[in-house]
Amino acid sequence: MEKDLQRISGADAVHVDVMDNHFVPNLIFGPQMVQRIQDVSPVPLDVHLMIEKPERWAVDYAKTGADCVTFHVEATSEPLSVIRAIHEAGAKAGISLKPGTAIEPYLDLIGEVEQILVMTVEPGFGGQSFMADMMPKVTAVAEYAKERGLSPWIQVDGGISVDTIAMAARAGANTFVAGSSVYATDVEPGEAISRLRRAADAAVTG
Ligand code: ZN
Repeated sequence: MEKDLQRISGADAVHVDVMDNHFVPNLIFGPQMVQRIQDVSPVPLDVHLMIEKPERWAVDYAKTGADCVTFHVEATSEPLSVIRAIHEAGAKAGISLKPGTAIEPYLDLIGEVEQILVMTVEPGFGGQSFMADMMPKVTAVAEYAKERGLSPWIQVDGGISVDTIAMAARAGANTFVAGSSVYATDVEPGEAISRLRRAADAAVTG
């Protein structure tokens, strides 16, 4: 993993998916492991908690030195207190929404966080197809933020490739999680990242 991390030193961050085998049917990366990744990573950590009761665990992940800790609004009844706890532990905070979750009940939280993650696949496994029908949700976040003079990271996660990144960028996303299209492709990860960056930039500038 350390070698794979060195290969993506051109990325803005490394996105770490944390799964608890409850919120999603997969189990990976406790806080100690995230701490190890933090210690050897050439770029900041963007931790995505796909776990139940983030109020129990989010602070442990924030204390690893991660730049940002994002949790799912579906997994807690007290999102605002989780956001505050992450901030107090010294990290940026993010909220995430599964494909079936509407943004409208959570619009008030946009001003409280540094990142909003709109899942573009069902969370839990890599290699799924990009859900283009999530783009209106991305645009709703972007418009709400713009109207209020906010400029959060609007992140999409799942199925991002050189073919889908332009659609997400035009919808208003500005932060893109890519896995298979960086590591499981015919070019080196550094070149794959550059290609994704160029495709996203081209979509919004020209
Ligand atoms: Zn993720």
